[in-house]
Amino acid sequence: MTRDLILFGPPGAGKGTQGALLAERLGLLRLSTGDVLRDAVRRGTAMGREAQRYMDAGDLVPDDVIIGIVRDYLAGEAADTGVIFDGFPRTLPQAKRLDDLLEELNRPLQAVLVLEVESDVLIKRLSGRRSCAGCGATYNVYFDPPREEGLCDRCGAALSQRADDDPATVQRRLAVYAEQTEPLIVHYRKSDTDVHHIDGEQSVDHVQRELVELLEE
Ligand code: ADP
Ligand code: ADP
Ligand code: ZN
Repeated sequence: MTRDLILFGPPGAGKGTQGALLAERLGLLRLSTGDVLRDAVRRGTAMGREAQRYMDAGDLVPDDVIIGIVRDYLAGEAADTGVIFDGFPRTLPQAKRLDDLLEELNRPLQAVLVLEVESDVLIKRLSGRRSCAGCGATYNVYFDPPREEGLCDRCGAALSQRADDDPATVQRRLAVYAEQTEPLIVHYRKSDTDVHHIDGEQSVDHVQRELVELLEE
């Protein structure tokens, strides 16, 4: 039986960082809807062209676009493997469509893992975030700098800053999270799925250990 998890939390909470480690450790796939969208923007596909204006403004991409990504993924690559959803669902309609989809596919959701980080820390993390276009690795100039400034430790490619990590867009994304995404926790509390809250301000290793312990219980 597959084992699907949701990694939940505001922008900068560490979903990507923890999701990658967890996926490797547990043999799960990670689906970051943000990564899929950024890839579509880079490639200039129809989906990318539609999504870009929302992303640049720090707003959410329409639900139908997102559901399409998730449905294709569950029907294809992840048909027989558990998935860590990173950055999805982000609205109540997305959560309800995921409930229906998973029920149809007979894949019960195992847990919702909520990473909690205060907004002053989020703002600092997002302003210092750098990513590698070559291999996808994420760094932080304040908390986790690369050995050589501006270059990826793993593959040597140049690091870049996400366009939506500028201060004004970050403010907007945090507001959108509070308005449209955070209320989903109540939706999952009312469901059969376990909801766990984790202090995301601890070190990367500490958060990871806590997640693994929770899932092994
Ligand atoms: P999200 O996917 O939730 O937006 P990321 O995993 O991309 O978050 O992390 C945001 C930034 O904060 C990145 O630069 C990352 O290196 C850094 N970061 C992640 N987890 C921690 C942590 N526990 N402590 C300090 N910095 C962190
Ligand atoms: P972060 O967690 O750091 O905010 P993501 O990579 O998850 O970053 O998302 C970046 C942007 O992609 C969002 O601001 C939004 O425009 C879009 N996006 C990603 N996932 C979704 C989703 N599930 N629903 C709507 N928009 C999304
Ligand atoms: Zn790299």
